[in-house]
Amino acid sequence: MGRETFRRNVCTGGRNFYYMKNIKQRTCIGCNRTGDKNEFVRVVLLDDQLTIDVEQNQDGRGIYLCPMVDCLEKAKRRRAVNHRLKTRLSGKELEKFYILFLDFINK
Ligand SMILES: [Zn+2]
Repeated sequence: MGRETFRRNVCTGGRNFYYMKNIKQRTCIGCNRTGDKNEFVRVVLLDDQLTIDVEQNQDGRGIYLCPMVDCLEKAKRRRAVNHRLKTRLSGKELEKFYILFLDFINK
């Protein structure tokens, strides 16, 4: 009996969990590359509008994209924006965002 309890306690050590929490990786919705959040452009949905979160501190559901046209194109083809944000933005709204994004990364 006593030995069983001991084994259970050892196996639930919380150390790994703590470590995982501190290396939160972001994934590009275009190429699926993972990395630190400052390697990506964060995009959030604010009042039903896609906005680029330059400071990466906006609340709300966000997606990440590499600052590259390629990844935007891939995301576009896979309809990843609506999918990841669980929204149904129209083609027009998405087009507006694509222009915004291109403008942002070309600066
Ligand atoms: Zn990418």
